[in-house]
Amino acid sequence: MTTTKELIIRTHHVERVQTVGGDSLEPTDRQTGRPSHPIMLVKCHKSLPPLLKHTDVPARITENFILSGYRFPNYSLVQCLVSAFRPTNETGNFWTHFLPVFVFGFYFAEPFGWEGAAPANDPFFYPLWTYFIGVFCLLTASSMAHLLNSMSLVVREVCFFVDYGTISAYTVGSSLAYHYYIHPRAGIPELGAGGANDSREHPLAAPEAPGFGVFFETFYIPSSCLVAVICVLACCNTRQRWRTYRYVIRTLVFLLPFLVASTPIFYRLLHASPSSPSYDSSFPAAQFFYRHCFWLVASAVFNISKVPERLSPGRFDIWGHSHQWFHVCTFLSILDELHMINGELRAILLRLAPGGTPTAPPHLPGPTMASTYGVMLLLQASIASIIAWFSWCAKVVYEPQAGQAGKEVLAKRHLKCH
Ligand SMILES: [Zn+2]
Repeated sequence: MTTTKELIIRTHHVERVQTVGGDSLEPTDRQTGRPSHPIMLVKCHKSLPPLLKHTDVPARITENFILSGYRFPNYSLVQCLVSAFRPTNETGNFWTHFLPVFVFGFYFAEPFGWEGAAPANDPFFYPLWTYFIGVFCLLTASSMAHLLNSMSLVVREVCFFVDYGTISAYTVGSSLAYHYYIHPRAGIPELGAGGANDSREHPLAAPEAPGFGVFFETFYIPSSCLVAVICVLACCNTRQRWRTYRYVIRTLVFLLPFLVASTPIFYRLLHASPSSPSYDSSFPAAQFFYRHCFWLVASAVFNISKVPERLSPGRFDIWGHSHQWFHVCTFLSILDELHMINGELRAILLRLAPGGTPTAPPHLPGPTMASTYGVMLLLQASIASIIAWFSWCAKVVYEPQAGQAGKEVLAKRHLKCH
């Protein structure tokens, strides 16, 4: 058993758990053997329990090929927050989605500073704001889920239900932005009768694509919302059943919203674009879309393969394991998606500007509070209801176990410390 191999080393009141083989659970300077962050440890050692090995925590919270660096159980909120600055197997997961919030915010604000752009609160920007809400919730919920999940088994479940919910909300935020900015008739507010609703000359009105027109204008957003709800249900279920294939299911389940949300882009790539004066088949932001797809595929590969920790279990426990690369790739995919949306926004603003390139008359109704924030609010309420239901089920199932598991881990920890 691991516990018989472990020695407790107390140096300058800093408590560390170290194996006979020398694999400290706290990172140390390899030359000196001292903690690489002595000041922080001295400050935090009284508030943070020692980290644990995978054999010391309930199987439920272990990750494949991650052998050490676990925090469990019953961390207080403050201890969880402080642990963001302590190398554990969740620290990288937290920072790889928390820092990107600021990077995303920086690039998100770009369009508001463009010459001739409407004020930030103009209805034209409503879909951009709902996209921002989706991404912001995704990144913050994901990072906080990784930070706070050591409070208890039940909190851990709730954290990841919220994580899945925000991923789905993000996909609908993307769909709203695509609908109003990338849709084949997108982004041009309805200016009035006559030309505004005259779609006879538009590619979507052409005989070869009537079905697409109906889909885009009637079913696209409802389909995105429906798929998002199905995804939340499926992903929450993977925490209670289908555990063996949970990473595959979660990855595949999120491919579906991507396919549904991206249909306007697929259409734009294959058909004439109203953004182009010559109505050629170019999609100016295509390079960003391809990169967005590349990063999504890369994130899926990391999430399913569990590389690199699969190749060397224990070596990537703290830094460099697949979930951190998964986070990095998902953020890069979001960043390229934002660049793509901003590129289309710029094209629309240029067309709307005085002296801009003449284009087809507007065909889509402009965004409204109800069609953007209203849709997002309704979706979030639906997702919150699903999360509440699964959380209640998790509480019923895991609360009794959590108490027992906590006592067992605390007993092991007590044995190690005395
Ligand atoms: Zn994550």
